[in-house]
Amino acid sequence: MSLQSFGQFPACRPRRLRQSPVLRRLVSETQLSVAHLVLPLFVRSGRKLRRPIAAMPGVFQFSPDELVREAVQAHELGVPAVLLFGIPDTKDAKASGAYARNGIVQQAVRLLKKALPELLVITDVCLCEYMEHGHCGIVSRDKAGAKILNDPTLKLLARTAASQVAAGADMVAPSDMMDGRVRAIRSELDTLGFTDTPIMSYAAKFASAFYGPFREAAESAPKFGDRRSYQMDPANAAEALREVALDLQEGADIVMVKPALAYLDIVHRVKTEFGYPTAAYAVSGEYAMVKAAATNGWIDERAVTLESLLAMRRAGADIIITYAASDVARWLSEK
Ligand SMILES: [Zn+2]
Repeated sequence: MSLQSFGQFPACRPRRLRQSPVLRRLVSETQLSVAHLVLPLFVRSGRKLRRPIAAMPGVFQFSPDELVREAVQAHELGVPAVLLFGIPDTKDAKASGAYARNGIVQQAVRLLKKALPELLVITDVCLCEYMEHGHCGIVSRDKAGAKILNDPTLKLLARTAASQVAAGADMVAPSDMMDGRVRAIRSELDTLGFTDTPIMSYAAKFASAFYGPFREAAESAPKFGDRRSYQMDPANAAEALREVALDLQEGADIVMVKPALAYLDIVHRVKTEFGYPTAAYAVSGEYAMVKAAATNGWIDERAVTLESLLAMRRAGADIIITYAASDVARWLSEK
């Protein structure tokens, strides 16, 4: 677009179209609707349990019965999908709880699909919550230190995804950032006959400080080191596009950028370059910051949340994963 292609003042007055709500709505370029939202939920064993997460007011670890109650409420508000994370009773060095037939996520999926067949149930595929060391892959240690092994981890991830789909999951979302995991999962699902189950890959997942409160929620903080040998460097955008290209070649149906608000340039480039369904994950730190400022009376929680999610949509996100999904659904219905 060149400057010459636009009118000039005084013939051109952009304020003409901002005069009334009806005019502003008529020319609004971006819409935020409940249909775009996914609510992340945490499940652990027990009964009648709602364990609050200190840094995330309004977010809980639920026992399966309470999880169903929460999902029913969200679904009644119009939230179409949930993303499940499990907290197992025991952890080990091969993440057995991630792919156990009666693992906590597998149990939760069965209950949810029975109670709410229309709710889209997406399962997070990763090993960190189930590993005693809290890393997303198998760890090998020698004198030089600890290493996260890529290829041996793929088998466990594929097994995890398959067991979740066998339990009834509608979609799987691998978040580990091992190379080749989308292909491994696609091939395992196809072999088992689950050719129609989509994969939403955390394609560009950055090693971000914004994940802080999540680690308390999912009890998945690494016991040593950090995740920078597998998650992406926040400095890199071209690499994010290569990550997305690889995942699409391996069979990803939806690609995700995580976190959202500080990475809207990545969301925009991914959507523009590839044109695939694109998801943005508004992470725990983003949620916690808004809650903290709002609790102090420094910002308007509802206005700031709606504006942030609208910005994600404007950047190109088709899908927004947010802990505020039920609140947003309520706010949108009141508008
Ligand atoms: Zn992980």
